[in-house]
Amino acid sequence: MLNIRIEKTKDPKVLPGKDNPLKFGTIFTDHMFIMNYETGKGWYDPRVIPYQPLNLEPSAMVFHYGQEMFEGLKAYKTDDGRTLLFRPDKNIERANRTNRRICIPEIPEEDFLQAIKTVVKVDEAWIPTKEGTSLYIRPFIIATDPYLGVRPSDRYLFIIILSPVGAYYPEGLNPVKIWIEDEYVRAVKGGIGEAKTGANYVASMKSQVKAHDEGYSQVLWLDGVHRKYIEEVGAMNIFFKINGTVLTPELNGSILPGVTRDSVLALCREWGLPTEERKISIDEIKAAHENGTLEEVWGTGTAAVISPVGQLRWENHIMQVQDGGIGPISQKLYDTITGIQLGRLEDIHNWTVEV
Ligand SMILES: *Cc1c(COP(=O)(O)O)cnc(C)c1O
Repeated sequence: MLNIRIEKTKDPKVLPGKDNPLKFGTIFTDHMFIMNYETGKGWYDPRVIPYQPLNLEPSAMVFHYGQEMFEGLKAYKTDDGRTLLFRPDKNIERANRTNRRICIPEIPEEDFLQAIKTVVKVDEAWIPTKEGTSLYIRPFIIATDPYLGVRPSDRYLFIIILSPVGAYYPEGLNPVKIWIEDEYVRAVKGGIGEAKTGANYVASMKSQVKAHDEGYSQVLWLDGVHRKYIEEVGAMNIFFKINGTVLTPELNGSILPGVTRDSVLALCREWGLPTEERKISIDEIKAAHENGTLEEVWGTGTAAVISPVGQLRWENHIMQVQDGGIGPISQKLYDTITGIQLGRLEDIHNWTVEV
């Protein structure tokens, strides 16, 4: 149990109005959680303070060697005014898996949850209530030792910031066009692809820019060894429905284990749909498209929840899915998951946690 000191802002910001579109990740609330770490001392001085810039030495290790991790989850306001988190235990478990992989000290799970709940409670008035909106929660840890040498840092900051966000697709579930990357690689087995760390994102930017220039919104990554097996799409996990079966790549060491991915698999199984987690080659997708059995494709992630894919481009092959529209399973998954998150559907899995 942390003894969290709370220092409220003397200068609260004006809350975004009801009609503010809340462009993703651009507005931050009045407060943030912060806690220090030092070798020998452990995690100490947990506090909620006014949202403010950090004061770091230019030699802080995070700037040079990228020892950084992050998480992403959301808080929702229910119709009867309760605040719900969606499966925070899964994010916290994953955060510590990331920490272990990149030599950051772990945070006890109950302390992590307490920190999230405390800061969300302080800024509860910032949780938007309009359809499709939520409060995005971004916990992260950075290495702060002032040292230009490669080794794990002896000092860290654990910070949680909050951002009210609008519907990811304001016009509704909008199918996206995906560029299948055959030049660059995001991650390889044995690397850090299954850890949630900024380094994976910087590795992806060049390709993302290329795809954008070609008119595509996201990149689909193939495995780094054979350049043949499907891994992820942008910052999402990927699903295919082929001839009635729901397929997603197995967690192979280079794929980020998404909480939404896990929830989608659980729901599909519950609905009696055959599901398979296995290697899926790009040739298999191309063949399914050609013989008319590629029924639906969608990405899964906290930000968009379900992101239907309308078109895939691999080399010179353009594969149109669902005539570019949204498929029935994608829609049902979106409605069910958001229904549970908003407390409108019965939560038989105990996925939601009240703040
Ligand atoms: C966060 C993330 C996901 C999605 O995970 P969720 O827990 O569902 O939000 C997928 N891929 C990558 C690379 C990610 O960073």
